Amino acid sequence: MCSPTGDETHQHDEHNREGTEAQHTDVFPWHLGVCDAHCHPTDTMSSIASISGMHARVLTIMATRSQDQNLVSSVTAHYGVNGRNELATSFIDQTAQPSDKVVPAFGWHPWFSYQLYDDAADETSYVPSEPADVQQKAKHYTAVLSPAPDFEFLSSLPDPLPLSGFISETRDRLVGNPTALVGEIGLDKAFRLPLGWNQTEKSERDAGVTPGGREGRMLSPYHVKMPHQVRILKAQLRLAGELGRPVSVHGVQAHGVLFDALASLWKGHEKEVVSRRKQRLVAQGAEDFSSSDDDDDWASEKGPSDEKPYKPKPFPPRVCLHSFSGPPQMLQQYLNPAIPARVYFSFSVVVNLSTHGLESKFADVTQACPDDRILVESDLHTAGDEMDRLLEQICRKVCDVKGWTLAEGLERIRKNYEDFIFG
Ligand SMILES: [Zn+2]
Repeated sequence: MCSPTGDETHQHDEHNREGTEAQHTDVFPWHLGVCDAHCHPTDTMSSIASISGMHARVLTIMATRSQDQNLVSSVTAHYGVNGRNELATSFIDQTAQPSDKVVPAFGWHPWFSYQLYDDAADETSYVPSEPADVQQKAKHYTAVLSPAPDFEFLSSLPDPLPLSGFISETRDRLVGNPTALVGEIGLDKAFRLPLGWNQTEKSERDAGVTPGGREGRMLSPYHVKMPHQVRILKAQLRLAGELGRPVSVHGVQAHGVLFDALASLWKGHEKEVVSRRKQRLVAQGAEDFSSSDDDDDWASEKGPSDEKPYKPKPFPPRVCLHSFSGPPQMLQQYLNPAIPARVYFSFSVVVNLSTHGLESKFADVTQACPDDRILVESDLHTAGDEMDRLLEQICRKVCDVKGWTLAEGLERIRKNYEDFIFG
């Protein structure tokens, strides 16, 4: 869910989805395990049954708003991956058709951040009531939206929900799902809220699409102020840090603010960077450089699936920047060895290869991305053949740019995925 226009149906220039990709005659080695690091099939619940017949080994399904949290939970109850061992075993025993194909993620997307009010440090001093008092509702939405919404638009907006309630509900979901991560969360400077439904649109809407998304509606001039988006993001990053879970992050036209938000949470926890000279001395046994206090943290950063107890921290141990659209310099910034979190970069056809301009940027950024930090994703809202096709296409493209054979590339990407999810 990352289209710069805020259109989750990705209706922008989709030259690669329309069949302009190269035709391949070789058989794609699905048996090596292709794991979709970010997708939204719960937006089309009728497609869920097709998951069991898909070639992709794992789908990482994002929750984004009030309407899809329970859906992601229910899909996980049927298809949830149990753990690293089960996943690894399935690649050895190719005869069984695995039924565990879903890794869930629970989070609140920046497009819907205006619906939450920060009751811990509330910028609006919003006073809840049921139903919401019109004045109070206006106060909240005026504080978090820009420009200030008019009465008509305001009346189309839902009653705000407390951030603390969402965080505690999400904590319960994460504790109940040991493989679950936090997502989709993030920041988006380009997004504008869709206009409220008019009667005709409402009567014609597709009942098979999970409510709460844009569904082709016209966009309003209103956007969510960045400080509010940052508050909602940070609360979720802290929750991931508390439980040692990875996060899947959306960042559109906000690369600098996003980096600053993450950096503000790991400030004071940076790893000591040992110089090459020091490393040589240690190797020679000349001096024992015992590590910083945070080495303990680093050793236990893998998360709750490890034997070592996880020590809660204010930032997540692993971060996936999904459909990463920043320049190579921004990618480099996340690879600073002092950063106490491991940052991965995931790529999709629907965002990274959606225009010719983006496609050439994709090659530069993929080349700059370390081999052990690349992930692939569909970011699609429907499970099934199209999702498989887009995954195959992005895998082929990454392997092409990296100069990997498909066998080599798919092994690497799958290993990266396992490390990202399980630590
Ligand atoms: Zn998404």
